[in-house]
Amino acid sequence: KFITFEGIDGAGKSTHIAFVSAHIQRAGIALVSSREPGGTPLGEKLRDLVLHEKMHLETEALLMFASRREHIAQVIAPALASGSWALSDRFTDASFAYQGGGRGLPLAKLDALEQWVHPDLQPDLTFLFDVPLDVARARLDATRELDKFEQEQADFFAATRNEYLRRAAQFPQRFRIIDSTRSIADIQAELATILDALLAA
Ligand code: C5P
Repeated sequence: KFITFEGIDGAGKSTHIAFVSAHIQRAGIALVSSREPGGTPLGEKLRDLVLHEKMHLETEALLMFASRREHIAQVIAPALASGSWALSDRFTDASFAYQGGGRGLPLAKLDALEQWVHPDLQPDLTFLFDVPLDVARARLDATRELDKFEQEQADFFAATRNEYLRRAAQFPQRFRIIDSTRSIADIQAELATILDALLAA
C-alpha cells in the first residue's frame, strides 16, 4: 500500500506520520518512509534549491516533479514491488495545492506533469490534515495583527487549503480528511481505526 500525508503548514502533519509508521510496523508490515520534495539524495538537493532559490513558478513545478520522478523510481516503486508499504510526507496533491491553488499555476499543466511522471501510480490512502487558517496561523505564529506580507501569506494558505479540499472531494475513495483541531489522542484514535481497516483489507 502507498500512503501519503498532506496539509498546509501548521496542520500538524509531521506529528502524526511517526504514529502511523509505528502503527503499521507493529502490525508486522515492512515499510519505507520518505518525504517530498526530497526522498532521495538528488531529491534532497532539488528540495534545497526549490525551497531557497527564487525561480519561475513553472521551474518550481518542474523541479517538484523531477524530485518526484526520482523518488518514485528509487524508493516508492521498488518498495511496493517488494511488498513493503510506502509512506510519503507529501506527494502530487501538494503540487496541486501549493503550485496550483496557492501560486496559481494552471491545474491543466499539473495534470500533464502527473500524466508524464506517474500515469499509473496513485496513493491507496491520502491523509489530509486539515485546520482552519486561523488555527494554522496560531500554531505557526502568535497573536499579532497580520502585516501586509503576512496577509498575502494568509491568502496563499487559504487558496492552498481550498485546493486540497477540492482534491479530497474529487477523490473521496482515497482521501481521509482529518480534523486536526482536535487533541492528538483523538486524532490518533481515528488514524488507528482507518489503518486497521486498511490492514484488514
Ligand atoms: O512538508 P514540509 O513542511 O517539509 O514542506 C516544506 C515546505 O515546502 C512547506 O513550507 C511548503 O510550503 C513547501 N512546499 C511547496 N510546494 C510543494 C510541497 C511543499 O511549496 N509541492
